[in-house]
Amino acid sequence: MLITGLAQGGQLMTTTEVDNWPADAMGVQGPELMDRFLKHAERFETEIIFDHIHTAKLKERPITLVGDGGTYTCDALIIATGASAMYLGLPSEQSFMGKGVSGCATCDGFFYKGQDVCVVGGGNTAVEEALFLTNFATDVTLIHRRDSLRADRTNQMRIEQHPKTRIIWDSVVEEVLGSGEPNIVSGVRLKNLKTGAADTIAADGLFIAIGHTPATEIFRGQLDMDEEGYIRTAPDSTKTSIPGVFAAGDVKDKIFRQAVTAAGMGCMAALEAEKFLAAGH
Ligand code: NAP
Repeated sequence: MLITGLAQGGQLMTTTEVDNWPADAMGVQGPELMDRFLKHAERFETEIIFDHIHTAKLKERPITLVGDGGTYTCDALIIATGASAMYLGLPSEQSFMGKGVSGCATCDGFFYKGQDVCVVGGGNTAVEEALFLTNFATDVTLIHRRDSLRADRTNQMRIEQHPKTRIIWDSVVEEVLGSGEPNIVSGVRLKNLKTGAADTIAADGLFIAIGHTPATEIFRGQLDMDEEGYIRTAPDSTKTSIPGVFAAGDVKDKIFRQAVTAAGMGCMAALEAEKFLAAGH
């Protein structure tokens, strides 16, 4: 049985072109890929339930999940609840979402060939996304709210030495600027947090890279997780700290976050769950 959650299809439903899905040489749209996943699951007679689980009792046997629409029990559980990108929460960011504002450089960077882009954030993701964007964009501006990067030293050196990148320190984006129909981003209005000074810089795209939140709230206190709430699994495995509970995809992976890596982990989890059940648990 597959319980979809409210955001059926997850992050890929808000992704446009997926260019690194194997054997789709011309790329595939995120929602189309998710529709194909759904049909594939239906072909194997998976029972698909649209419900939102609010309580999980992982230590009970059978494992019990309580949703808005019912209670479900199982002997093996694969957690693939994913993660969501964090955004700044600006109304202008929302209105240009997917039309110049993106949470994923790997997904959307290609569209900014020969253009100028900004990246918000100071962690490893922001720096790696900024460096990745130099493959396409003419100029990449990293906007960070403090005066030093959180990213590790190697990444700091890479971005500081790259000829296409510059860093604007101590600054936050206050508004994404652009024009009407169709929505086109033209720049960002910044505020320097130390001086209070406002500034406007021109840009064709804005990438937000201020972190992700794994959807693990309902499992907190029951499973071994890292300090950010990502589920920990055994090496080379999807096994969690509770026998019969497996985790796959972005809910346990904060490094790769790709459809292909998540699907690969899903396959691992299915094989491990099958083996667990076959052993008579
Ligand atoms: P992160 O390390 O939490 O960094 C988030 C960045 O966004 C921080 O610089 C933070 O600023 C900034 N930020 C947060 N909220 C903001 C807001 N509202 N407005 C403006 N800026 C904001 O997240 P991450 O970069 O996604 O990385 C997550 C984890 O994955 C980290 O442990 C990271 O090391 C790891 N990771 C590792 C690799 C690698 O090893 N190659 C690659 C990617 C990610 P402050 O610094 O001021 O808090």
